Amino acid sequence: MTIGTAAQAVSAADGCELCSTPGGEVLWSDRRLRVVRVDDPDYPGFLRVIWQGHVREMTDLDRAHRACLIEAVFAAERAVIELLRPHKVNLASLGNMTPHLHWHVIPRFRGDPHFPDPVWAARRGGSPVRLPMAVADYGRGVAASIAAALSTTD
Ligand SMILES: [Zn+2]
Repeated sequence: MTIGTAAQAVSAADGCELCSTPGGEVLWSDRRLRVVRVDDPDYPGFLRVIWQGHVREMTDLDRAHRACLIEAVFAAERAVIELLRPHKVNLASLGNMTPHLHWHVIPRFRGDPHFPDPVWAARRGGSPVRLPMAVADYGRGVAASIAAALSTTD
């Protein structure tokens, strides 16, 4: 697999996981980005905002697209806060293994399996997070927030 600026031409057949799979349950998408709910039994509210194209860094996007992506991230954060009332929302852009710029939006709770460490650290105990609503309702709430936030962007 080729990764880098020449990766625009990488297709699903070339092994790009985020071109060949959605990377989670798609809650909202357009030609620019998609918002998925990550399949993580410990963190059922875990979202990712994934840029559809092969772009590695925020500063590789032009200003309009950068604004679009970060507005989607902020809308996802706001939806998580309003729907789940977490202790904190963790936002992270790591993406060392994929050419798709993406943001993790992770609702955190005291007593979750990794609290207060990052979710990528060793488990500390705690209990899996439980959504206070049906998962489908959570997805609809997130989707509505994203749609509203991006309705004013091109
Ligand atoms: Zn890809």
